[in-house]
Amino acid sequence: MENLSRLVNADRLSEDREEQSLRPSNLDEFVGQRKIVDNLRVFIQSAKMRKNPLDHVLLAGPPGLGKTTLAFIIAKELGVNLRATSAPVIDKAGDLASILTGLEENDVLFLDEIHRLSPAIEEILYPAMEDRSLDIIIGQGVGAKTIKINLSPFTLVGATTRTGLLTSALRDRFGIPLRLDYYEIDDLKNIADRSARILGTPISEEAAAELARRSRRTPRIVNRLLKRVADFAVVEKRPSIDLEITRFALDRLDIDVLGLDEMDRKILSAIIDKYDGGPVGVKTIAISVGEEIDTLEDFYEPFLVQSGLLNRTPRGRVATRGAYEHLGKKYTDARGEAAEAGLFPEEEE
Ligand code: ADP
Repeated sequence: MENLSRLVNADRLSEDREEQSLRPSNLDEFVGQRKIVDNLRVFIQSAKMRKNPLDHVLLAGPPGLGKTTLAFIIAKELGVNLRATSAPVIDKAGDLASILTGLEENDVLFLDEIHRLSPAIEEILYPAMEDRSLDIIIGQGVGAKTIKINLSPFTLVGATTRTGLLTSALRDRFGIPLRLDYYEIDDLKNIADRSARILGTPISEEAAAELARRSRRTPRIVNRLLKRVADFAVVEKRPSIDLEITRFALDRLDIDVLGLDEMDRKILSAIIDKYDGGPVGVKTIAISVGEEIDTLEDFYEPFLVQSGLLNRTPRGRVATRGAYEHLGKKYTDARGEAAEAGLFPEEEE
């Protein structure tokens, strides 16, 4: 079943390399997130007019919503080079120092998963972000010397799935913090249409709409499901992707009408059946469904919360009435009264 649960997991898989071709390359092609796009357009234009680097940008939001895409677009629109790396691969101060000193004037440095930077590396980043300076310690003990290196002006674009894990010191150093939200169904439909055109597989209106509804409101997933549905259409010898083949394929892939996959349903069922609807801790759920805590927190939970099926409370996760109804399970009145009496208040982020 691993393959099926991975199908809707928005984490990047190797197959997504070919998704590069589906990646919008400028702000006009970037579908949805209007407010963010419009604001970015102004900030980019202003930076270009002033011939200054764009202020540092923090992109936050669940996987697959377009953070990496936007970073590449920002560099392209600015007309500068982009250097991309990810926090977990920077484990020595020297790694970051060599990346920073390699940047040319006004370049963009894209740092993915920025919440995973080690505190020691963060310390190096602060003066680089603020004063474009790098303090390097040479030698050890009494003979150690600090030398200051001036860096070219640059823009750091950080991406994170978990703003809550960023230190406030780091967060405060981004002049342009942007939070990507789950996409509107219409936007996803446009993305499905656009991708189908690029892939050369005709798709009907209704089929694109159905894909959009069942894609966890996430562009990466709409693209991935589109490709799988196209496979079914080819094998079934359909001239185009129609509604019937789309529904057939998505049902075969165990993706339900809300776009939930097997793992989503497993999580909700575990909370309801084993823990009486919750509250139950995320660690316990992770063990119970055999999934990593990080994956639960980064990927599965945000969409379940957004769909109104799960509440995060200080005492643990609670399945909502909607979750019971979606899974066809009986929601007891006692639980309903408890919820109404505020016994399961929502957690503050
Ligand atoms: P993230 O970095 O947030 O995990 P990506 O930027 O890698 O997400 O986006 C995943 C894929 O989804 C991209 O390859 C791109 O094809 C598609 N995508 C993301 N956002 C958009 C968008 N706004 N319009 C069209 N396609 C998008």
